[in-house]
Amino acid sequence: MTAAQTRLSLQRFIEAAQATITAHAEELTALDQAIGDGDHGHNMVRGFDAMREAAAEIGAQPFGKALQKAGMTLVMKVGGASGPLYGSLLMAMGKAGDEAPEDISTLAGIFAAGVEAVKARGKSEAGEKTMLDVLVPVQAALVAGGDATAVRAAADEGLASTEAMLATKGRASFLGERSIGHLDPGARSSALLVHAVCDVLEEE
Ligand code: ADP
Ligand code: MG
Repeated sequence: MTAAQTRLSLQRFIEAAQATITAHAEELTALDQAIGDGDHGHNMVRGFDAMREAAAEIGAQPFGKALQKAGMTLVMKVGGASGPLYGSLLMAMGKAGDEAPEDISTLAGIFAAGVEAVKARGKSEAGEKTMLDVLVPVQAALVAGGDATAVRAAADEGLASTEAMLATKGRASFLGERSIGHLDPGARSSALLVHAVCDVLEEE
């Protein structure tokens, strides 16, 4: 991929991510009202609006630096628990890959570094009703060499699996058993972002 192509795709990813977060902000808020404090939609819109505003500046950097800058933007603007977690995901991916990945196994390695950073930052694992219940299955689908359809399916199944889970991390854990029966808001935003990235990848 040439530098110009990388720049173009980074801007497309940012636009697609911001668009889907904006379109689903109320849904994210409603999910967080059920088992959290109702700010997840607003937090995510704030962060992705800021990223969209910085899209040209982010896209002007080489791939790894661009992801680190995008991650920093999320840390500074999203707030809540999810800001540092999404920020860690992107910053660690940026550190793991200087250049845009040319194949799925390279992408899988870069994404794995991001997921490990989320686990470390959140002191969490899959199965605790968080964004990791989407990110970990997506990572597994990438490792298996799955195409965009397989990756989207992994995200959707991971999201659906959070409904029956007991939350043991984050605000939802304060509800104990009452957290069961609701989708996790961060898992929903992760699934939205995975879909947006897959859609852009398929168009290219
Ligand atoms: P806050 O919980 O501070 O209000 P948000 O509402 O923006 O922040 O984000 C909540 C989401 O963050 C949860 O739905 C969950 O997916 C994710 N989350 C919270 N704590 C953790 C953690 N320790 N590990 C992984 N994800 C977490
Ligand atoms: Mg919240």
